[in-house]
Amino acid sequence: MRSAYRLKTVFATAALLAGFCASSEIVPAQDPSGSSGAHPIVVIHTDQGPNSAQAMQQHYVVLVSLDGFRWDYAKKYNAAHLLALGKEGVWAPEGMIPSYPSLTFPNHYAIITGLYPEHNGLVANSFLDTTEFAHYGLSDPAPVADGHWYAGVPLWSLAEKQGMRTACLFWPGSEAKIAGEVPTDYLHFDDKVDESARIDQVIAWLKEPAEQRPHFITLYYSDVDHAGHAYGPDSPQTKSAVARVDGLVAKLHDALKETGLPIDLVVVSDHGMVKIQGPWVNLDDYADLKGFQSAGPLLYGASEADRARVYDQLKHASEKFEVYRRKDVPAGLRYDENPREGDPVIVPIGPYAIRAHGPGKNPDGTPRPDRAPEVGAHGFDPRRMPEMKASFFAAGPDIVEGKTVQPFENVNLYPWIAHILGLEPPKTDGNLNILSGTLRDNGDSKAATVNAPAPSSQE
Ligand SMILES: [Zn+2]
Ligand SMILES: [Zn+2]
Repeated sequence: MRSAYRLKTVFATAALLAGFCASSEIVPAQDPSGSSGAHPIVVIHTDQGPNSAQAMQQHYVVLVSLDGFRWDYAKKYNAAHLLALGKEGVWAPEGMIPSYPSLTFPNHYAIITGLYPEHNGLVANSFLDTTEFAHYGLSDPAPVADGHWYAGVPLWSLAEKQGMRTACLFWPGSEAKIAGEVPTDYLHFDDKVDESARIDQVIAWLKEPAEQRPHFITLYYSDVDHAGHAYGPDSPQTKSAVARVDGLVAKLHDALKETGLPIDLVVVSDHGMVKIQGPWVNLDDYADLKGFQSAGPLLYGASEADRARVYDQLKHASEKFEVYRRKDVPAGLRYDENPREGDPVIVPIGPYAIRAHGPGKNPDGTPRPDRAPEVGAHGFDPRRMPEMKASFFAAGPDIVEGKTVQPFENVNLYPWIAHILGLEPPKTDGNLNILSGTLRDNGDSKAATVNAPAPSSQE
């Protein structure tokens, strides 16, 4: 059951608070004794029967997300284990291209569905659906677990439908029933779950009997994103967060090898990070937003007259953003089809913190308290701002050794992982040809007898 959206405005900061991509709190380095007050792992299990005979013949994929791990961090901060993983298999030294907006939920969900945000339903971390008159926010458990917000067929749903068991140790969307399925095992998001214990859980899944053992597993770490928001991409805190997650990847990689199973390890990030310039840009300084609802910088006008008026007021208002009627948003952004995107649409043209409303004034005329923008942020156009690019490393029995790939859009991971797992994917925005050159079988179906020339892995 959904509750009607009651608040008139959701401030940008609300979208940046608790949950995935939380920026208000740095998770301290874990106490190796495990007595740091970390939360225990609570797995939610749904019995979906054993793996099918066909599924049991397939290999395994462990998909790891390192939130906010910018494309150049591995080299910049010498993440030795990730670089070694890339050397052992494939990596994207110039980065992977996130979907616009380069935010956490839209991109995790683009990776897992092969659909751009406006097709997968998550057009931002926080947005309105004006037809439902309801609000989605990444830190609000009710919509996050409500499948009606999500479109597409996430990889775990695709696998479960085709008789293959899956397990998610956090991933946006994994707590909701989507396309009629949930992962066999998943957890409610809790970033205080011990980081090392997350790896132990992945290994425990892989040690289950073959009939129950999940073939597709996700794992998530937020550290690097937290540090980037609080201290910026060039800070010693971000450097040490990179070192910490690099160590976790090493531990995972070793433990996966010890299982002796044919596992492909895929490590990605959702987006990069940039240092924010200047104070908040408040759209209501330039336009009368009467008749509008908002979520962060997204604007939802009540009438066509309102939308046209605010578009005119914002059109030449600032050198820090562009404004478009939604239908006119540049095609490359893939942000012109979904009413959840609002209208007009604001596109920042630099690393600026933009929101619909400033804090306003108290009834007595004194200014309400405000907080400065974070030191680092993301969400910007990755083609205009290369700092938004994400990371990609992968190695395993299905992946060629020692190959690099040119920047590619993250929606192309979906058909690639589906292929490795022997799953039949639906049509999406992703294309297997983009990454097929990284596969030992060149992306040919197992039954194919004629080898087409290996397609370029360039975008
Ligand atoms: Zn973030
Ligand atoms: Zn993120």
